[in-house]
Amino acid sequence: MRIDADIVAELKQAGENASDVLRVALTRLRGRIALVSSFGAESAVMLALAAEIDPAVPVLFLETGQHFPETLAYRHELARVLGLSDVRDLHPNPEQLEKRDPTAELWAFDPDACCALRKVEPLDEAMIPFDAWITGRKRTQAATRQGLPVIEDAPGGKIKLNPLIAWTPRELDAEMTRRNLPRHPLTLRGYPSIGCAPCTRPVGEGADPRAGRWAGKAKTECGIHMRKPASQGA
Ligand code: SF4
Repeated sequence: MRIDADIVAELKQAGENASDVLRVALTRLRGRIALVSSFGAESAVMLALAAEIDPAVPVLFLETGQHFPETLAYRHELARVLGLSDVRDLHPNPEQLEKRDPTAELWAFDPDACCALRKVEPLDEAMIPFDAWITGRKRTQAATRQGLPVIEDAPGGKIKLNPLIAWTPRELDAEMTRRNLPRHPLTLRGYPSIGCAPCTRPVGEGADPRAGRWAGKAKTECGIHMRKPASQGA
């Protein structure tokens, strides 16, 4: 692992307190850590907590070319309101895009390949200079996320941090209200979880928030969190 044991120990000491985890991570790993954000329905809280500690933290946004216009506008609004000075838009490789998805319809017949091209590969490349990354995942989001810890090993000897892992939708909502954070406009139109436009549907009141993601397909994750560190096998 590239991260010194004393830093890992400090991160563990922070437990599941999001602000404490972020404070240790963004100060002890400054220049070595990035925050990955979808600028989706629940992204504002993490971005606000991080901005309080280090508004210059690199924030990586996967600009797949398939987002709702509302998401792109929200990405700029949140960056401005929170004073985030280093939000980076990660685009798919143009040559690969032309070769593998010239009509931008890959999502319809092979969404895993589309996510690999538009999300996994650009993020892998952008993460090369970093040793650690912060995600916004929560245990309540999906069955596949229920056992997640705050600190995970990631491929390449890196670590992944999930500071908001224990937060519930209700707590996030209350924090957004308390901080008067801007809301993603689509949350008011029935989208509790927001990804690329072709793969996101509104869901009914009380339904699983992620039911509108890749609706009708077996897919539940985009793939950026699916790869295991070498020690756990491929
Ligand atoms: S979420 Fe849909 S459109 Fe976006 S990269 Fe994945 S398959 Fe493609």
